[in-house]
Amino acid sequence: MVPEAIKIAIQSELNIKLTSGELLHGGDINQAAKIDSDSGDRFFLKWNTSAPSDMFKVEANGLVLLDSALTDLIIPEVVLVGDDFLLLEFIEEANSGSSSDFGIQLAKLHKKTNELFGLDHSNYIGRLPQQNKYHNDWLEFFVRERLEPQVKLAIDSGKLPVQLANIFERVMNYTYVVFPEEPPALLHGDLWGGNYMFTADGKTCIYDPSVYYGHREMDLAMTRLFGGFDSDFYQGYNEVYPLQKGFEERSKLCNLYPILVHANLFGGHYVRQAESLLKRFF
Ligand code: ADP
Repeated sequence: MVPEAIKIAIQSELNIKLTSGELLHGGDINQAAKIDSDSGDRFFLKWNTSAPSDMFKVEANGLVLLDSALTDLIIPEVVLVGDDFLLLEFIEEANSGSSSDFGIQLAKLHKKTNELFGLDHSNYIGRLPQQNKYHNDWLEFFVRERLEPQVKLAIDSGKLPVQLANIFERVMNYTYVVFPEEPPALLHGDLWGGNYMFTADGKTCIYDPSVYYGHREMDLAMTRLFGGFDSDFYQGYNEVYPLQKGFEERSKLCNLYPILVHANLFGGHYVRQAESLLKRFF
């Protein structure tokens, strides 16, 4: 099940024997398993033998950064990382939990701030590269580091028409949407319903991040894109860090980014959705 080379690397690095494993899902990007060892420890292992060699390393960095915010969110501890695998502490899932507390803890995460928007290294969103060059201004960051690279990729692969290439040329005032001025917030960066779980010890675990310091409305908008977050979650969030007026409209612009990413990864109706949002906002 687990490639022999990865098994050998883990066993020799940690000086343990992996005793049994159970495949967790046939994800479209990586494979994942629950692994037991003779040390009594249980691990979560994900691997991908054709992943870019830094993909799991930057994911591990992201988890460590999220953990440094010292919220009550559970962030799986990184045990070992290699070019083609990531070994984490195994988190036991519960069927239900407190969405309100999840909202409160996410708001606390978003209070962790930074002088600039961005991050000191690039990472990935899904399997696509995500650049994080620092900017002072959120809209500038959003356009240059998020929208532009995805639009370019979509044009280069023939998904979007080449006429869209200059859509971001008019610097500033490209859009009628104005984001409220807020400090850069530490974001999970890919917060859809499949990237969190309630845990057996009554908390919420977030994983599979694409972290950076951004506008917090990016994380909140993403929670709306595919569902999986109830009203208690938003109520809890707003108790700690209230969203400002106009979020509804801005969230559609925020979600242009994940929609472009989906257009590049999966094509289909995401391409049409991306194109109509680009025309609407720019
Ligand atoms: P992928 O990068 O392939 O999408 P994820 O990191 O999202 O993989 O993990 C796949 C699934 O494994 C998640 O949906 C979650 O149910 C489970 N999972 C993720 N991390 C852990 C963990 N540390 N402990 C237990 N289960 C986990």
